[in-house]
Amino acid sequence: MTDLRELYQQIILDHNRAPRNFHDIPDADRQAEGDNPLCGDRIHVSVRLEDDRIADIGFTGSGCAISQASASLMTSAVKGRSIAEAEGLFHAFHEMVTCGSGDRTSLGKLAAFSGVREFPARVKCANLPWHTLHAALRGADRPVSTE
Ligand code: ZN
Repeated sequence: MTDLRELYQQIILDHNRAPRNFHDIPDADRQAEGDNPLCGDRIHVSVRLEDDRIADIGFTGSGCAISQASASLMTSAVKGRSIAEAEGLFHAFHEMVTCGSGDRTSLGKLAAFSGVREFPARVKCANLPWHTLHAALRGADRPVSTE
């Protein structure tokens, strides 16, 4: 279990240090803003769709290591997937960090966030990028806030 925790921690540190897809998508079809005032995390997610597939996705913003790493891993996980698959991951991730259930095998590296469940204030940081993606895919025109 210690090895797994260390591995998870390394994944989060790595993605915080070198975030993947950290840029705006110039010809984005969908975008949304997310805000977690409790921690000071702000994120902007932009998506380019091809039919019902996420052809490209990027994020910008600033915040704590958990929110940045979560955004990096989230964008990596959903890029190239269908909207339905991305929404499925959103629900599986949300379940994992809130109640500890959910199909972890389908989550791959996203399972690195399973430990945040023990830190309720951090759950919002981990969830913020996913809620923002969800809003972008839904075409929401109001910013997302965790409060
Ligand atoms: Zn945070």
